[in-house]
Amino acid sequence: MLLSSSRLLLLLVGSAAALPLAAERMRLAWPTPNPAYARGEPVEAFIQPTVSGRVESGLFGCVRSSGRQFHEALDLFPISRDAQGEPLDEVFAIADGIVRHVSRQPGASSYGRYVVVEHVDAALPVMTLYAHLASIAPGIRSGTRVQIGETLGIMGRSAGARALPPERAHLHLEIGLRLTDSFASWYRWKGFGSKNTHGVWNGMNLVGVDPLAFYDAFRAEEVDSFLDFWQRLQPAVTVRIATTKIPDFLKRYPALRPAPMPLRGLAGWEVDFDPYGVPIEWRPLLSDAVEDYQRNEVRVVRFDREAQTTCKDLVKGSAGREVPGSDLQTNLQLLFGLRK
Ligand SMILES: [Zn+2]
Repeated sequence: MLLSSSRLLLLLVGSAAALPLAAERMRLAWPTPNPAYARGEPVEAFIQPTVSGRVESGLFGCVRSSGRQFHEALDLFPISRDAQGEPLDEVFAIADGIVRHVSRQPGASSYGRYVVVEHVDAALPVMTLYAHLASIAPGIRSGTRVQIGETLGIMGRSAGARALPPERAHLHLEIGLRLTDSFASWYRWKGFGSKNTHGVWNGMNLVGVDPLAFYDAFRAEEVDSFLDFWQRLQPAVTVRIATTKIPDFLKRYPALRPAPMPLRGLAGWEVDFDPYGVPIEWRPLLSDAVEDYQRNEVRVVRFDREAQTTCKDLVKGSAGREVPGSDLQTNLQLLFGLRK
């Protein structure tokens, strides 16, 4: 429970005595005992590559299978091991929060054993996900409040049916948002043929941002919070949808809707997504903005073709006739309950 400051790498503790109107700078910790990042060392000093050996493969983005495969996390290697070569590094909560999901069966997910923490006190209550653990600390259960730097478990190599080899043991760290509370309904509709044992904390319901970009921006004092970082994400595509529905996503993350809700007459939404399909900003629409739309019709109203990545099918179709690609379609299904 107590933070041992010798091991815990607090990046920067907030200067709470800033301008009265300035939001307080959050407290943020590195999730492993490796001091390399805090010392400003290059990524080779903390990133675990895949079998390819290319350090990029352990970063976030279209970094695998010649750019076709997405990796939604940072992979961080251990700095201490036992005689058998198994990691001994503790894995720490990067900020205060509440444990929302603990998956103790290594075979139940390609994440292996994993823990999800929701940072409920933040202006944008993002979740962080810690995967491939060897063990989960006693007392870490769904509903447990954790403090920054609290030990969640021990780094490992659990990864579904087949474990990773010891030399590639690592922590897989995600920072993201949860798309829907109705994940079970979407999962049934998709007919995957396997049981979802992770509830709304299934990885398919989580959309992540680049953790290293977040740490870098925080360290450089360009952002003071998760919300600051989200507000700096660059939109790649903007869609409009004709619906009177207010997605539960917005109830969870109201800070992503800076404009007030109309008192009456909500007729749709305009939503910006980043190049990986992460919702950034939401703007409510009145009927004039979607007057020639069918109910639940989605249109791409802006698209930055240069922002299209090699691993996410965000938008397809020729210029002026763009429609959501399969990955954006999935996120729209989850956000708005669309079933097409
Ligand atoms: Zn990973």
